[in-house]
Amino acid sequence: MDIKRIEILRRNAGKAEFQAAIELLRWDAEEAAKITFAVRANEQGEWTHDYHCEEDGTRLTFQWGEPFLHRCSTCGKERRNQLLDGCWTSIAHSQIGQAVYRVALLYALEPDEKRLQFVQSYLMAYADHYETYAIHGNVPYNGPGKLFAQTLDEAHWITDLALAFDMIQEHLPPEELAHIQAGLLEPCARFLIAHKEKQIHNHSVLITSAIAALGLLLHDRTVLAAALEGEYGLHDQLNRGIMEDGLWYEGNVQYHFYAFKSLLHYALIAEGTTWDVWTKKALKAMFDYPLQLVLPNGVMQTLNDAGLGHHIGTYVPYYEIAYDIYGDGKYRSLLNTAYGTAEDDPRIKIAKPTQRDSIYALMFGQDLDGETTELDSLGAEVQRTRSLPASGLTKLVNSAGWHVIVKHSRFGGEHDHMDRLGLSVMHSGIPLLVDPGTTAYGVPAHYGWFKHTYSHNTVSIDGADQPPRDGRLIQMHEESWGAWLETAVDWLAEEYEMKDRIILPAELNPWDSDAYRGAQIRRINILVEDHLLDLVQVTVPEPRVVHWTNHWSGKLQDNDAHDLWSATEDQLSRLDQQWFKEKRKLIADESAFSYQMREGTLEQHVWCSLPTHIYTALTPDNPPSGQRTSNTITASVEKRVIFVQALHYDADLGNRRLGRLEVAELTTDTLQISWNHAESQATYHIHLLDGKVYIEKLI
Ligand SMILES: [Zn+2]
Ligand SMILES: [Zn+2]
Repeated sequence: MDIKRIEILRRNAGKAEFQAAIELLRWDAEEAAKITFAVRANEQGEWTHDYHCEEDGTRLTFQWGEPFLHRCSTCGKERRNQLLDGCWTSIAHSQIGQAVYRVALLYALEPDEKRLQFVQSYLMAYADHYETYAIHGNVPYNGPGKLFAQTLDEAHWITDLALAFDMIQEHLPPEELAHIQAGLLEPCARFLIAHKEKQIHNHSVLITSAIAALGLLLHDRTVLAAALEGEYGLHDQLNRGIMEDGLWYEGNVQYHFYAFKSLLHYALIAEGTTWDVWTKKALKAMFDYPLQLVLPNGVMQTLNDAGLGHHIGTYVPYYEIAYDIYGDGKYRSLLNTAYGTAEDDPRIKIAKPTQRDSIYALMFGQDLDGETTELDSLGAEVQRTRSLPASGLTKLVNSAGWHVIVKHSRFGGEHDHMDRLGLSVMHSGIPLLVDPGTTAYGVPAHYGWFKHTYSHNTVSIDGADQPPRDGRLIQMHEESWGAWLETAVDWLAEEYEMKDRIILPAELNPWDSDAYRGAQIRRINILVEDHLLDLVQVTVPEPRVVHWTNHWSGKLQDNDAHDLWSATEDQLSRLDQQWFKEKRKLIADESAFSYQMREGTLEQHVWCSLPTHIYTALTPDNPPSGQRTSNTITASVEKRVIFVQALHYDADLGNRRLGRLEVAELTTDTLQISWNHAESQATYHIHLLDGKVYIEKLI
């Protein structure tokens, strides 16, 4: 480790603002030092994704003293079986890895023979036994492990040990240093090299970063070259996996940081050597990008396989690094906002401040005082309308409180949700129509519901999933009266950017290429002060049933009105119908609906160029214990269908539909759309020309 890093660590340890970090590190290290588990020969870990209760999805409780008893804290059920014992083994060793790293860090701060002894003895024990660990594991789409059931977990664990080794290596007697290198680092590097993934993937970044770190610690250029160079090496991962604007191709901030943080581990070990990577452009772009996806409540937009609960506070450790290395005011603004030390800014309201207690705060933390310019302010950023054509996300924001995100991204691989042109809408921090991300992979709703087109606010043809394809931003404009954009996707061909770079798991190909062949979708969103207009046009080469889905994070009002809705068994989508509860079909001539949101009321006014069936049902929210109100509109289409909806949000509660949407087809390619609501009126002419739409706002 760079001596400069150790110096900052020691300097910060003496400062008041880092006392929480020091205390946490000390507490972690003291807890870690209590681990007495003896590393043995022939250990065999299993996949920790299996360490969940199959009834309620809760992660089972790991206890050091109970390697053969696995308890669910939700339902209380206790389990004993070999598979779970193997999961326990994996958790134990990954915890030892983290423990060893923390104790090594504290040793760098407060040298104490016992700490050195702890780190050294675990490294030596692993070096004694590593060769006895049999290659095993059949985790789907993941290479095997030795101590663990997959290459990925092996790489995680060795990264922690590598960081710890780097911290203490100068204090090791030469013969012990040589034993750890020859018994652990070197064979593990060889194992990982043999099981590198042949694709561009976050796992590959992690595995190649681990190999690179081992190469540096072994002073072995062959190992380093195996990590960095060639097809699917670390450099190739960065070149072909990071999009031009800095987002990792898997399409959300979570996977972005998953790939990124392993790269940062390598960067930490490489710092100050000739392999130093801080000046690489891609690295800085990876810090910059996520700032643009922060929502006004500080939460990160969930897209694709993103889980809930990721917010700016989750990522502050990395922005400590960014601010130290690059010094940009925007990183400082994010840090101050997350820590609650920024001046109040009504444009961004976080639920609660995050403690400045991370290890990276200790190692990189700088003084966060200073004026924040408007340009750098995170509050200004979350209110900025942004178009990011490379990563395929556009957000329209206005001062009335709307926050609209359209996903026109490229196909993002196995974590994609096949929801091109998906729409997410929030108002005043209230989710109205959002992409809920997903839940734990072991919970049935993950594969059954969230990973499909139909659970998104977009179009499904014949109820099937969209095949992989890249979306496109056609145009975006900010006018004096509002902002609008046009996005598109088509299945006129089967190519997509990532096609030859990734391996798609065979049973994660649920789409129907025949249903979509030749289909084209374009979506136009117009955001004005008091309303959002949403126009979706679908053209098909042969007759198809087009499903347009909107999933409201609220409750339909008048849901019980028997003269409006009737229970139905009609099949919605090709998914298991268990996901649709209280499925009803509209039996009256109604085109306006209102929803009671967590706060406030949402009015939805719809129009379609063809006769439709309209359905409502309760479907899983995230977490899946909650429900959303899904609104599905289907139309049998010969050639073309146009759907229009106008949305209006009112912060007050009340069952009212005060707005009126009128749509007239002036010519085959021109729609006149009028919106009336209380004192606001607007009329648009939408010219659906080939290639590009042209919009006139009349009043
Ligand atoms: Zn349970
Ligand atoms: Zn999704």
